Amino acid sequence: MPECYIFAADVYCEDCTRNHLMEQDEVMIAFPDLMGGGAHLIRTEDMLAELVRANGCDPENPATWDSGDYPKGPEADGGGEADSPQNCCVCGAFLENPLTSDGYEYVLEQVRMSDVSVEVLLADVTRSKAGLKLPDDSIAAMVEWLAFYGDDDMNREPRLTLNQVIALEPIMKRWDALRDVPTIEAASGASVIDIDFEDFPKGTDIEDIWHAFEADCPEFSAGEAMQGRYAGVLADSDPYQVALDGRNRGRRGNRRRPGRMVDGGRLVSRPRQS
Ligand SMILES: [Zn+2]
Repeated sequence: MPECYIFAADVYCEDCTRNHLMEQDEVMIAFPDLMGGGAHLIRTEDMLAELVRANGCDPENPATWDSGDYPKGPEADGGGEADSPQNCCVCGAFLENPLTSDGYEYVLEQVRMSDVSVEVLLADVTRSKAGLKLPDDSIAAMVEWLAFYGDDDMNREPRLTLNQVIALEPIMKRWDALRDVPTIEAASGASVIDIDFEDFPKGTDIEDIWHAFEADCPEFSAGEAMQGRYAGVLADSDPYQVALDGRNRGRRGNRRRPGRMVDGGRLVSRPRQS
């Protein structure tokens, strides 16, 4: 985990903090070896300590100086959990901070709003994982975050990975359409559809349709879908209208806006909020 420093109302990576510190007279005086190629032997914390000490502050007590005057830190995990990916304000390095759940939603939203194709996006994620520089026109900060945290962060129910969102979108469109299909109770007690749906004739047990969905998409589980686990896959669907039982049918309020996330493998821009 890279450490970072707060300075002048911005976030600096350790390298850029060092570069700043090494240019300060107080640091140069305290460490004459800096000029003789010995810089790598001197820790960033020690340079900072000398700088603040020379200016009458207590290195052991960060409250004695203002981060507007001298850097404060180091802080672990890129400054900690934040609502967006944090990058060094000087060199742009990704600081590998974890995201809040709002932050994760923000990343997915930025990805959805972009015109970047899924193929390009995934290629960028791969590039970023390999430590390669991303092209300037990519939504680099988002890609870097997804590449760094990826699936490891998805224990936060009910968040989904980008790959899951992409895989689930077609099946969730069908699931959503199925919610509008009326059902009746058959003599057997099973719930069956009362009109034809896709290739399923009227009278098909609705659970057979769920199982067909699961067979078509290994990522999909009807049980999870009913619990709202995939809310957000269809970007503007209503996460609370998830039940497929008859009680909730017909209560759907908002019709969805046009403009979907994935269309034939391309991410499509949603209408921007102004
Ligand atoms: Zn930097």
